[in-house]
Amino acid sequence: MNKKSVRDLDVKGKRVLVRVDFNVPVKDGEVTDDTRIRRALPTIKHLLSEGARLALVSHLGRPKGEPDPEYAMDPVARRLEELLGAPVHKLDTAVGSEVGEALENLPEGGVVLLENSRFYPGETKNDPGFSERLAEPFDLYVDDAFGAAHRAHATTVGVAERLPGAAGLLIEEELDNLDDVLGEPERPFVAILGGAKVSDKLGVIESLLGVADALLIGGAMCFTFFKAQGYEVGKSLVEDDYVEEAKRLLDEAGDRLVLPVDIVVADKMEEGVAAETVGVDGVPSGKMGLDIGPEAVERFRDHISDAKTIFWNGPMGVFEIDAFAKGTEGVARAVAEASVGGGAKSIVGGGDSVAAVAKLGVEDQMSFISTGGGASLEYVEGKELPGIAVLPGKGT
Ligand code: ADP
Ligand code: MG
Repeated sequence: MNKKSVRDLDVKGKRVLVRVDFNVPVKDGEVTDDTRIRRALPTIKHLLSEGARLALVSHLGRPKGEPDPEYAMDPVARRLEELLGAPVHKLDTAVGSEVGEALENLPEGGVVLLENSRFYPGETKNDPGFSERLAEPFDLYVDDAFGAAHRAHATTVGVAERLPGAAGLLIEEELDNLDDVLGEPERPFVAILGGAKVSDKLGVIESLLGVADALLIGGAMCFTFFKAQGYEVGKSLVEDDYVEEAKRLLDEAGDRLVLPVDIVVADKMEEGVAAETVGVDGVPSGKMGLDIGPEAVERFRDHISDAKTIFWNGPMGVFEIDAFAKGTEGVARAVAEASVGGGAKSIVGGGDSVAAVAKLGVEDQMSFISTGGGASLEYVEGKELPGIAVLPGKGT
C-alpha cells in the first residue's frame, strides 16, 4: 500500500477519529452478522494499545438524514463491547460538545462509539460545515472503512481533508490483496464473475480481461452474452442495452471468456418450482435460466483447479433458492479446494458472493474475503476510490 499507515502515527494521548464500516445487519436489536465489526478489531486494538483516545464512527443502513431509532448504533456498541472485552460508551450524537466532553473524560486506551453518521443530512452530501463539526474535537483521523471508500461522504472524505491521518490495517490488507491480483498475479489467473447485472460489472469484465488468463461468467449476466451469440434466452434476465457491448467483449476476449455449457431453467424464480437442466442452445422460450448446470460447473472447476490466482465476484445463480444454488456451491467448493489443496491465492468480494461462501462454511478456506462489495469492484475496475485518494501517501 502506498498510503501512510496507522502504524506510522504517534497516537499516544491523541484524540483519534476512526471511520469504520459497522454497516452490519441488525434484527430485533441484535447484530445478526458481526463480520464487519470483527474485521475492524485489529486497527481498534492497535490504537487502544498505543494509548489513543478513540471515537469510532460509521453509517448503519439507510436512514433518511435524520435520527431514526431503527438505525441507532446501540446494538453495534453492545457487540463491540463483547468482542473487545472492554466498555464501549455509545454517544447519541456524532458531533457537538457532547463528543468533545466524552473525549476529555476518556482515559488513554479508551473508546467511544458515535451515533450513525447518516442521521445527518451532511454525511452523504459531504457537506463542508458538517465535516468541520465532525473534525473539530479530534487531533487525528484513521480510515478503516474499506466498504465505504468508494463514497465521497463527510466521514470518508470531508473529515479526512481536515485532519492529519492514515489508513487503518483493514484498508491496508484489502489494498495489498487486490493489488496482488491486479499487479503481477501468479498464473494462471482465473477470474469468476456472476450476479445479477452485466451493466454493473462491464467495467470489471473489461479490466479483468486485461489481466486474467480466463474469465468464467455465470449468474444472470451470462444471458446477455448468450443473446449476443444469438441463442434463445427465454425469459432470462437480459440487458438489451448491453448486447452490443457483450458482442464486442466476446470478440476481444476470444476463448479466454468462458460461458456455461448448460443452464438450470424454470418457469419462475420461486421456491419449489420444477427445475430442469438444458444445453445453452436449448433454453425454452417460456423459461428463465436461474443457475449454471452441472457440466458448466465441471468445466469451471477444471479452470479453477489449475489456477494459482483466483478472483471471484457474484453468485452463479439464484443461490437464495436451494434448487438454484448448486452452481454457486460447486464453484465455491472448487475455489476452496484450489486454495487449500492447490495453494492458489483466492480473493472473494461482493456482498452476495461472500454470503454464499459463508452459507457453505468455506470462508476460512479462501485466502482473502474482501469487506468491500462495491468498493472492491470499483478498485478492480481501476477507478480511484475517493476515500483512499484523500489519505496521505507513504512517507508524508
Ligand atoms: P454480489 O453482491 O456478490 O456482487 P450481485 O449483487 O451482483 O452479487 O448479484 C447477486 C444476485 O444475483 C443474487 O441475488 C442472485 O439471486 C442474483 N442472480 C444470480 N444469478 C441469477 C440469474 N440467473 N437470474 C436472476 N438473478 C440471478
Ligand atoms: Mg449484491
